[in-house]
Amino acid sequence: MGKKKERVVCEVCGKHEAVTKNFRKDGVKSEECTWCSGLSDSAVANIIKDNLDPLDFYELDYDKMSAEDLENFKNDLFEIILEKHENSKDISRMLECERALTLKETG
Ligand SMILES: [Zn+2]
Repeated sequence: MGKKKERVVCEVCGKHEAVTKNFRKDGVKSEECTWCSGLSDSAVANIIKDNLDPLDFYELDYDKMSAEDLENFKNDLFEIILEKHENSKDISRMLECERALTLKETG
């Protein structure tokens, strides 16, 4: 009761919240975030090897995202910013999210 839901971090990028289990090659099952789970095995291998951000593989269109997705994405970014403190890319993404959300709410 009142306890904050534990945030499970994606096993691929170690950054975003894990929301799904995925079978990768070699039958390895990993808990992944929305973003990593949408990427190919080779993209995922590159993320692990070079410590990349899966968001960099996407062309983000905030205006096309639903209010719920925007809210979840914003919260995810907020947690990341609180934990890591330094990523200006994440901060600008969060602000974009916030802006798109406000536009949706006000019509
Ligand atoms: Zn991930």
